[in-house]
Amino acid sequence: MPDEDQPMSSSKPAKPTRSPRPAKSAKPAQSAQSAQSAQSAQSVERVAAPRLPTALVYDPTFLDHHVPDGFPEVPARVAGAIAMIDALIAEGSLPAEHVPRLDARPATKDELGMVHPLAHVERVRHACEAVLEYGGYEASPRRFASDVYVSPGSYEAALRAAGAPLVALDAIGEGRARNGYALVRPPGHHAGAEIAMGFCLFNNVAVAARYAQRRWGWRRVLIVDYDVHHGNGTQDIFYEDGDVLYFSTHQFPFYPGTGASAERGRGAGLGATVNVPLPADSGWSVYDPIFRQVLWPVADRFKPDVVLLSAGFDAHWSDPLAEMRLSTADYSDLTLEVAEIADRYCEGRLVAVQEGGYNLDAIAQCAATVLFALTGSDRVVDNLGEAPPINFRWNEDAILKALYELHDLAGYRRKPRRPILPEQYVRPTEG
Ligand SMILES: [Zn+2]
Repeated sequence: MPDEDQPMSSSKPAKPTRSPRPAKSAKPAQSAQSAQSAQSAQSVERVAAPRLPTALVYDPTFLDHHVPDGFPEVPARVAGAIAMIDALIAEGSLPAEHVPRLDARPATKDELGMVHPLAHVERVRHACEAVLEYGGYEASPRRFASDVYVSPGSYEAALRAAGAPLVALDAIGEGRARNGYALVRPPGHHAGAEIAMGFCLFNNVAVAARYAQRRWGWRRVLIVDYDVHHGNGTQDIFYEDGDVLYFSTHQFPFYPGTGASAERGRGAGLGATVNVPLPADSGWSVYDPIFRQVLWPVADRFKPDVVLLSAGFDAHWSDPLAEMRLSTADYSDLTLEVAEIADRYCEGRLVAVQEGGYNLDAIAQCAATVLFALTGSDRVVDNLGEAPPINFRWNEDAILKALYELHDLAGYRRKPRRPILPEQYVRPTEG
């Protein structure tokens, strides 16, 4: 664990690429003081309304989903993240009133049933009960599906992982929160309607999308997935649905093998799946233009009523499972872009749902950083710094050009790229 007393600031504070951050004039102020000053300055044109907080939904039940030794998707992932967030709150860097903690609740069978047939839900429940009967509550986890193990507590954890984003959506719908962060496990985006795989039992973000539509009437749902893996389950569930737009950046080719750019949806859903497969070693120089110049035009055309973020931190350069080059600071900026899309189209309605991330330090720091971003702050919690240099750079313009043509994005607004000093990303390897 990094030093929780001093988790602030990049370990490379002199990094010049962070400084020419474009002004975000539409961003409301973050601190309580500035929220109050915004409140008192009603006469000033375009003053933002007092900003509602970010609902943080977590539940200790998530730790009861046990896995075998050596398995990467461990309870410490979210335990470390919530501990870091709690430390930031305790030291006052993250005002508690900006991030009210809400308990998760189990998703009901009716809610899960919007995505998963009851037979799948029952299969998970039976498997967990079988482990319990076989060996008691401390029984060793047993294999359930490809890269999925269950323990006696897994069913309740999975129900609450699916229910947590719904708690956040309710807080938003009832005017108690501007946006939310469901810090959950097990993750969800590989789970299909009838299949568990890739550490996932139920598709948490998919259930949230259906709930947003049914409970709150937010019909057009934009799901942004920056986990390093393609969310094959989410794509499958909404592949023929034009009201749910699935946008994914992911390492490719890579697990689970899906996510080619030619996979664009089918029938009424044609065009509502936007895959951005990226080569290994993609970093900020690729992700920044993709978000500003592909995600933005896609969102402009789609005009979401709510935005969901499959927040996987395994595209961090330090992740042991993948090979991308994002830093924690980069995750901050990408999240701020997504939040700005939500600001523009749907009054800030955005729920981030935890997916992957397997370096325990990186997931804790990214979780805290993303939570800051959701509160409107660009503060970065990071002692890992930028990716080690490499001696080449992908041609992001070729990637962009292919996506423009494939998705017919000409004519839609593109945000200018943030200035990048190429030498910051392309340095000859030493020796
Ligand atoms: Zn992942």
